[in-house]
Amino acid sequence: MFKKLFIILICCIFLTACNQKTKPIVLNTNETVKVIDPSLPVVALTFDDGPSKYTKEILELLKENDAYATFFVVGNKVEAYSNTINIMIKNGNEVGNHSYSHKWLSRLSNNSIKEEINLTQNILKSTANYTPTLLRPTYGSVNKKLRGSTDLKIVLWDVDTKDWKLKSSEAIAKRALGSIQDGDIVLMHDIYERSLNALKIIIPALKEKGYQFVTVSELKEINLIKQKMKE
Ligand code: ZN
Repeated sequence: MFKKLFIILICCIFLTACNQKTKPIVLNTNETVKVIDPSLPVVALTFDDGPSKYTKEILELLKENDAYATFFVVGNKVEAYSNTINIMIKNGNEVGNHSYSHKWLSRLSNNSIKEEINLTQNILKSTANYTPTLLRPTYGSVNKKLRGSTDLKIVLWDVDTKDWKLKSSEAIAKRALGSIQDGDIVLMHDIYERSLNALKIIIPALKEKGYQFVTVSELKEINLIKQKMKE
């Protein structure tokens, strides 16, 4: 983490010093080095509620396309899909916390919220030696109590593909492609086959427009660097 921030910082100072607006941004995640062209758009695809039997294929699709995403996993599924989680991390994706048993976090007591979050932190640590820094609240529901119960960064979304509601992959892809803009966080779910099939349309179409697929944490860093470059 510190090494990564250090590299970003160096990159940032270098960019500011040179005042070159199209110098690539270099991100170093795990074993993966990612180079981002700041003159091209970026998007952070996110997947909630998994892992599931479809997640591995999503991971393959991402890899084939040099794309990275963020998976907000449900803790009680982690053990059964430990292999999938390890591939997720090894391939340079980000893993976030989406509670342990998908309870409505903002409606629970402080202690129960903490328990739901900590159980998932612990199981990811013991299964994959990974510690998430992000929380996607269940049902996108946030209140003061939830904010006060966790140190994790709460992440919502800019575009809801409605893959939980729309029945066809074409409709999901159409909605996504009609809404996504540079810098957006996109909500999807890796528990439906239609989401996987929609992704097979969405990723190539966005790539065609020059989009680069990054994780949520990377998106935040890239936005900061881009901001600096404008100053
Ligand atoms: Zn959910």
